[in-house]
Formats: sequence, C-alpha cells, structure tokens
Amino acid sequence: MMGPSHALSGAAVWLTGSWALDQFADYHQTPLALAVGTAVCAGGALFPDLDLSGKVTRNQGGATVARTFGVFSLFIAEVMEKISLGVYYATKLSKDPRRNNGHRTLTHTLPFTGLVGWGTTALCAHYGKWAVVSILFFMIGLALRGLFDEWAERAGWVIVTLASAAAAWFTFANLPGDRGYPLIGLAVGVGCFVHILGDMITRAGVPILWPIPIRRRMWTMVGLPNGIALRTGSKAEVIVLRAALTVLAVLAAVGLVAPSVLQRFNIEV
Ligand SMILES: [Zn+2]
Repeated sequence: MMGPSHALSGAAVWLTGSWALDQFADYHQTPLALAVGTAVCAGGALFPDLDLSGKVTRNQGGATVARTFGVFSLFIAEVMEKISLGVYYATKLSKDPRRNNGHRTLTHTLPFTGLVGWGTTALCAHYGKWAVVSILFFMIGLALRGLFDEWAERAGWVIVTLASAAAAWFTFANLPGDRGYPLIGLAVGVGCFVHILGDMITRAGVPILWPIPIRRRMWTMVGLPNGIALRTGSKAEVIVLRAALTVLAVLAAVGLVAPSVLQRFNIEV
C-alpha cells in the first residue's frame, strides 16, 4: 500500500475506535485529544515504512515517509533499514532467503509494534510534556506527509517540519497538566499494527508470525494470495479503498462531534 492509504487507514481506525468507545463504553475525549490521537495514529501507520531508505549523501530515494524531514529522516531510515537487516540475519534460519535490504522485516512485526507502543508510553511517563511534544512533532510530520501528500510534495520538507512544530507546540500549550499520556503510546502502537494489516492485503505480505519458526523459516511472509491481493497503486487502492476509508473516518468524526454541537445549540435528539 502507498503512504497516503496507510495514513488514512490509521486515522479511520482511530476515529472509529474512539466513536465505539464513546458510544458503548461511555469513554469521552475532548476534541483536542481526538485530533491528537487521530494524527498520531495516522503518523504511526506510516512509521514501519521508515525502514525503506534512500541515498542519504545524495539526498535521494527512500519511501515518502523517509522524506518527511528531508535528509534527517532519510538518515533515520538508513539506520532503521540497517538495524532491521541486522536483526534479519541474526535470527534467520536455513530456509530464509538472503537479502540485501531490511525493508518489510523487523518494523513489520508484532514485537516491534508492541515495543514502539510501550516505548512511547514509557517516554511520555518518564519525561512528561517534553517527550510528548517531541513525539507529537515527529508523528504529526509523518501524518501531514501521508494525509496531505500532494500539498507536502509541493510545500517541501521545511514547511512540513515548521507546520508539525507549530501543531506540536499548540498541543503542548493546550494539553492538560503534567502527567503520562498512555493514549499517545496506544495511538502509535495501533497505527503500526494497522500498517502491518495494510501490507498484509498486498502481494508481498509481511512477517507477522516472527519470531515463530515455521519449517526452518523465521521470516515467513504472510499475505493474501496473488489472485485477490491488492496491487500497490492500483485503482482499487487509490480510488475504492481510500474512498471507503475517508467515508468511515468522516462518519466516525461526525458521530463523535455532532452530539456536543447539538447540545450546545440546545437541540434535542
Ligand atoms: Zn510497509
């Protein structure tokens, strides 16, 4: 799947989940908390593809997400790719094929998803608002890059960086008191998980069973059979899937916000 579809699926899942919690578990969030969670989940849904590196020294290549903060994120992608490849070789069994790059390995596994979610929560709990603002800055940048890809492409990485810094600062100034923000860790983790599911419906598949060895393979790629798998960049993805995700996100957002708006104008439903 392409970047914008991943980001959109993260946003749609977070909004739908929040709507379900609001309706059935009586768990209500402020509009700011909802917006933050949605942006972080959309950013988290792009995070695993930070393992697709380009050429740092020439400032070329890499996944869309790797270009969010220009050469800085391209460098992070290079490091993530090399670490992933290292873990691949360190854990590979005799039937796992040789590889020369780490894309779609470590960052596309469940232990990584759990680690990122837990790590984010721990950072926020330990360092409070400063960790929150840094994580928000990073995740909002990824979300902007994914959700508004054409704008981000035209505006360039400097504008994207400034916009995410401004959004992170606004949130920092308006979020209540010094406390842990477990919801941010959850949003990052859910985003990564949604990314893996998104890649599972494409041909290449993901090593979702890692580290369970199956027939002398540690990195079994799991995905839909070729006949029904989604082709990356196909009409089914770019038009049908994105339209469905957008409708889902909008419906959930309306469902979340409408009752309080109606209440404000004293309209009974
Ligand atoms: Zn991916």
